[in-house]
Amino acid sequence: MYKKVLLKLSGEVLSGEGQKGFNLDNISYLIKELKQILEYGTNVGIVIGAGNLFRGREMSELSPTIADQIGMLGTVINALYLKDIFEKNGIRTVIVSQVTSLPSIRPIHYDDINLYFDAGYLVIFAGGTSNPFFTTDTAAALRAVEMKAEILIKGTKVPGVFDKDPKIYDDAKKYEKLTFDEAIEKNLKIMDTEAFSICKRYNMHIMVLDFFEKGNLLKAITGENVGTLVVP
Ligand code: UDP
Repeated sequence: MYKKVLLKLSGEVLSGEGQKGFNLDNISYLIKELKQILEYGTNVGIVIGAGNLFRGREMSELSPTIADQIGMLGTVINALYLKDIFEKNGIRTVIVSQVTSLPSIRPIHYDDINLYFDAGYLVIFAGGTSNPFFTTDTAAALRAVEMKAEILIKGTKVPGVFDKDPKIYDDAKKYEKLTFDEAIEKNLKIMDTEAFSICKRYNMHIMVLDFFEKGNLLKAITGENVGTLVVP
């Protein structure tokens, strides 16, 4: 049973695949899945993306540095949205971020993260890495290492890591377990390379799973490999 996990969720978890904004059915699904693991006392940190609002690379009319700052602010908007809706559903939540000073957002202090967990809070890390040119995958790798998570769970819309895109190829084969070196060698797109390199260096195991398969998150924290494990 994992007691401390970092969950990376892309913005599309909030909107539905290929959609923008917030979809209340998706959000109530997220809350149900989270509540199951919080009931076990697992400490949960979430890094949320912003693909449901803004992605830097999709705003090609803008300079990348500006577009990425807008993207980072998108993660802050998602975090605020989630904090409120989580709390209305009984999940006590704090948002930590370095990118903005707003009344509902606390700065990241390493000493405080465990205090939040000990007090029963879920912690949302907003604002990505605080730097343009990165993604929230890299932020997830950083925060997982910083909060000393036992595992980084990447919730996706496919059931794990495949040798080719399972949405395009019927004969795509799923890997149960991979080493970081195998994933790099086979050029498998699990996370961006910056994220991957941090996880490899700091021995952070990753489980890639289908977030939209009911109960997967709970199974994952009980140690069941419901997707693909990437290990040293
Ligand atoms: N972003 C950034 N630096 C970071 C994290 C995110 O500049 O450290 C920006 C970038 O423009 C990115 C956007 O925020 O496209 C949203 O993040 P991401 O694409 O990772 O969201 P997801 O696809 O996971 O929803």
